[in-house]
Amino acid sequence: MHIYSLASSSKHGNAYVVWEDSKPPLLIDCGLSLRRLVNALEQIGLCPEDLAAMFITHEHSDHVKAMCLKTPFPQKFNVPVFASAGFWKWFEARHGGCIDPSLVHCIGDNQRVEIAGYTVHGFLKPHDAREPMGYRIDGASSSVGFAMDLGHVPPKVENLLRGLEYLVFEANHDVEMEINSGRPGFLIRRVMGRLGHLSNDEAADALTRLVTPYTKQVILSHLSIDCNCPDIATKVVGNELKTCGLEPEIKVAPACGVWGFGVSGFGA
Ligand SMILES: [Zn+2]
Ligand SMILES: [Zn+2]
Repeated sequence: MHIYSLASSSKHGNAYVVWEDSKPPLLIDCGLSLRRLVNALEQIGLCPEDLAAMFITHEHSDHVKAMCLKTPFPQKFNVPVFASAGFWKWFEARHGGCIDPSLVHCIGDNQRVEIAGYTVHGFLKPHDAREPMGYRIDGASSSVGFAMDLGHVPPKVENLLRGLEYLVFEANHDVEMEINSGRPGFLIRRVMGRLGHLSNDEAADALTRLVTPYTKQVILSHLSIDCNCPDIATKVVGNELKTCGLEPEIKVAPACGVWGFGVSGFGA
């Protein structure tokens, strides 16, 4: 599986592209401006029209910037979009009529969609948004799970993401750094709450149950720029997995900029 992060942070947005050889790519989230998104795709040799479909996780602006336009990204390039009913209700109230209904598709909790040779399995995740979704994508010979922006990892999410070849998984903050960040108390409580974001420790704990010897690479994502750093996140997750005898390659998706993982990754 080729996996590219186009950006991965609250500040610079979130978008990921995946594909298997000889199949068209899928886009997960589009939290970049239209120009940045098109440029980022260009950097990896893709045109927006190449995308077989896009999947939206939730309505927070760092995930949907290119949806919230007079002519949204999928409308401009004729790309089908899958998202939860909760997302579409939100979207309709703000940007109703901006997308051709034939491009709009609902995906619910524990629902599978067969598209372009992939099976995409949607699941609800705990986050303070309207029916926020994560996705597991199975190709012919490879699999990847996407779980960013979630406050904790329920057992049913663990069951769905266990033993995949690649995981794009949130490690948002270091607890000490978050507490001492000087941010307003309500924001700290929100980030650290059950519907907020995963800390490095919480991510590491969940990953001890998700990673198996089959897992090739864990791509830590959505790191807080102010309250985390790639070295700390990698160390916390790596050490925890090592105590369980698990040593997948651990990578970090940069806050901004295009970076390849999976079979497109450096050293993968
Ligand atoms: Zn986010
Ligand atoms: Zn969010």
